[in-house]
Amino acid sequence: MSAKIIDGKRLAAHLADSIKSEVLQWVTDGHRAPGLAVVIVGDDPASQVYVSKKIKMCEQVGISSSLHRFPAQLDQQELIGLIDQLNQDPKIDGILVQLPLPGAINEEQVTEHIDPSKDVDGLHPYNLGRLAAQSPLLRPCTPRGVMTLLESIDIALVGAHAVVVGASNLVGRPMALELLQARCTVTICHSRTQNLPQQVEQADILVVAVGKAGLIKGEWIKPGAVVIDVGTNRADGGRLVGDVEFDTARHRAAWITPVPGGVGPMTVITLMQNTLQAARNP
Ligand code: NAP
Repeated sequence: MSAKIIDGKRLAAHLADSIKSEVLQWVTDGHRAPGLAVVIVGDDPASQVYVSKKIKMCEQVGISSSLHRFPAQLDQQELIGLIDQLNQDPKIDGILVQLPLPGAINEEQVTEHIDPSKDVDGLHPYNLGRLAAQSPLLRPCTPRGVMTLLESIDIALVGAHAVVVGASNLVGRPMALELLQARCTVTICHSRTQNLPQQVEQADILVVAVGKAGLIKGEWIKPGAVVIDVGTNRADGGRLVGDVEFDTARHRAAWITPVPGGVGPMTVITLMQNTLQAARNP
């Protein structure tokens, strides 16, 4: 078997066209363009790349963006002060604070300071709680993007056994809640999970978000499974690779995402969807 590739880059490009039309319609109807504020602290190279992709995508779809860039030594109170201002600013519909933040800043306190109705990353406890309580509003970008990928292929989610490897607040936990919301039976694995191969072998749908290149061996994949690799790791020579051994996994899976070009572009496009959603429901 050779798996079909789930092409996130292509799907995201298609979605960008439809979001652009929706934004245009929104503006034609007499509203101002949706506004996104992006905040970056420090000079983490990966974060710089992600932020510039987000700003570029805003330009592409007609969302107005502002970038707030600060040195790593920024005082937490100053950051909170900026978030207060953005919370009050009627032209700002969405606030995205790029994570991770430098060590001295408490990410949880900063995230909790964002007005939940502007929390386009969907990481405020209010929005995570809405997802857990089965009435999601703004949903975390990467898990929502994965759901869009799964909905774009011809597979049944209801009753499927989904295994999520990774349990972070950013990806794994909300991913498990999204799959549960789609009526999958869900197993969540983390660093203390016993016998990971045995868990992975059960998966009709496998989502991996750990950050360890090649952690998931191809031979663990259930034949015919759908494999979504969220992991992004730098291999020798700077090449971007996922958490799943792609070359062996593709011979067992029915569907698989590549890295790059799978989940990454979906995270960016989902941020655009969330920003438009926030503009429509102030
Ligand atoms: P994280 O906060 O470091 O969380 C990693 C998770 O993996 C934790 O829950 C950890 O378990 C678990 N884990 C660690 N070692 C494990 C092992 N040997 N077996 C099973 N589970 C293990 O990372 P994250 O922010 O969720 O990101 C995960 C990966 O996704 C990273 O490579 C990141 O770059 C990537 N990512 C990609 C996108 C995208 O758009 N493509 C977006 C976000 C993140 P514990 O909970 O027990 O510590």
